Amino acid sequence: MVSLYEAQQKIYPRSVSGLFSRWRWVLVWLTQLVFYGLPWLEWGQRQAVLFDLGARRFYLFGLVLYPQDFIYLTGLLVISALSLFLFTAVAGRLWCGYACPQTVYTEIFLWIERRTEGDRSARMRLDAAPMSLNKLWRKGGKHFLWLAVAGWTGFTFVGYFTPILELGREFLQLRMTSWEVFWVLFYAFATYGNAGFLREQVCKYMCPYARFQSAMFDPDTLIVTYDEERGEPRGARSRKADPAALGLGACVDCSLCVQVCPTGIDIRQGLQYECIGCGACADVCDTVMDKLGYARGLVKYSTQNAVQGRWSRAEIWRRVRRPRVLIYALILLAVSIALVVSLVLRTPLKVDVVRDRGALSRIVAGGMIENVYRIQIMNATESVQHYRLSVSGLPGLTLATESLLQVDATASRWVAVRIQMPYESTRPGSHPIYLDVAAQSDGAHVREKSVFHVPR
Ligand code: SF4
Ligand code: SF4
Repeated sequence: MVSLYEAQQKIYPRSVSGLFSRWRWVLVWLTQLVFYGLPWLEWGQRQAVLFDLGARRFYLFGLVLYPQDFIYLTGLLVISALSLFLFTAVAGRLWCGYACPQTVYTEIFLWIERRTEGDRSARMRLDAAPMSLNKLWRKGGKHFLWLAVAGWTGFTFVGYFTPILELGREFLQLRMTSWEVFWVLFYAFATYGNAGFLREQVCKYMCPYARFQSAMFDPDTLIVTYDEERGEPRGARSRKADPAALGLGACVDCSLCVQVCPTGIDIRQGLQYECIGCGACADVCDTVMDKLGYARGLVKYSTQNAVQGRWSRAEIWRRVRRPRVLIYALILLAVSIALVVSLVLRTPLKVDVVRDRGALSRIVAGGMIENVYRIQIMNATESVQHYRLSVSGLPGLTLATESLLQVDATASRWVAVRIQMPYESTRPGSHPIYLDVAAQSDGAHVREKSVFHVPR
C-alpha cells in the first residue's frame, strides 16, 4: 500500500547571528515591551489601555470610546491593511520575518530551547537519545519555562480586558472568574502550542496572509535571494583553494543556510512560498563568506529585477518610488490623517434616542399630545457632565420632563423623556423632530432626529 501522507519532519533551526538576526531581536524586544508593558501603564486613576467589554468602554490613554465609536476601529484596520500592502510591495514578508507574533514567540521559545537543550546538533542528539535523567531535566526545564512564558502571555492578554492589577489580586487570592481563567489558559495554550510545537506549520498551512501576499509581490519587491550566477557550480573546497581554478562558484555547499532556516527550506532553489523573509540564511552565508575571504551577499535581500539586471543598491532604491508604492503610500497617508483629524474633532458625547414601544402617542391633560422616548446619554469625558436637553421641529413642542441631566464621568445614563404639543397645532401623522443635547461645560452638542406621532 502506498501512503499519501508525509509525516512532518521536525525542524531544528541552528542559531545564527548577524545584522538581520539583531534586527529581529530589536523587534522582539520592542513588540514585547509594548505588549507586556502597556497594561501596567496608568492614566489618571485608571489603566491607560483597557478594553472593558462588560461596561462597553474602551480606554486608550486620554480617549474613552464606546461601541458607537466602532468607526475608529474600522479606520485602524484599514490603516493596518494598507500598511501591510505598502510594506509587502516594498519589502516582501517584512512583517512575517520580524514582527509577526508567530515569529516573535517562536524566537523567544527557541532561545529557551537553546539555553536548556543546546544548539541544533545537541537538540537532535537529545531527541534521538533514550530517556535519561539528563534528558528529563532538560526537557522538563524547557517545558517549565515555556509554560511560564505562555502563562504570563495569557495573563497579560486578559489584562487588556480586566484591570491587570485587579486580575493579579484575584489570581493571588484564587478568585478569578471562570471566564478569566478560560481566556488566560486559552491564550497561554495557543502561545505554547504555536510557538513551541507548530512553529513553521502555522506559517505554511494556517496563516491566510502567507497565501494572499504573493499577489502583492512584483519584480521590484525585496525578497531574500541566492545569487545563482555567483554561487554555482557549488562545491566544497579548502580555504586556500582558488574556486576559479576548480571551476567552482562561491557557494561551498555547507548547507548552513538550510540549517538556520526556521521553515527548513533551501533558498538556493529559488523563491518559495514557505520563505518568511527572515534573512537568517543571508546572515549565516555572510559569516561563511567572511571566513573564506569572499565578498558578502551570496544570499541577500534583493529584487527579481535587480538580480536579473545586476542592479546596484541605488537602482533598487530608485525603484522603491514606483507608482504602485506611491499610490499605497498616498492612500495610507490620507486615511491616517482622516483618522487623526476625526479623533481630534470627535465630540465626547454620544446620544441614542429610542421611541417608547409601549404607546405610540397619547392625549394628556390640557389637550396635549404626548410621545415618550428613551434617551441614552453617553459621557465620553473623564469628568461629571451636565447636559441640557431641548426639542424642536414642530410648533409648540415642549419637554414635559427634566431638561437638565447629570451624567457621571465615562458613564452612560438612560432617561425617559416625555415630549408634548397642543393637539390642534399640527395635522395627524408622523412628523420629524430634533432632540438636542448640549454639554454645559465644554460646549459638546449632539442633535438626534426622531419622529413625533400625532393620532387621528
Ligand atoms: S550558506 Fe552560503 S555557502 Fe553555505 S550552502 Fe548556503 S549559500 Fe552556499
Ligand atoms: S529561506 Fe532564508 S529568509 Fe527564507 S525563511 Fe529560510 S532562512 Fe528565512
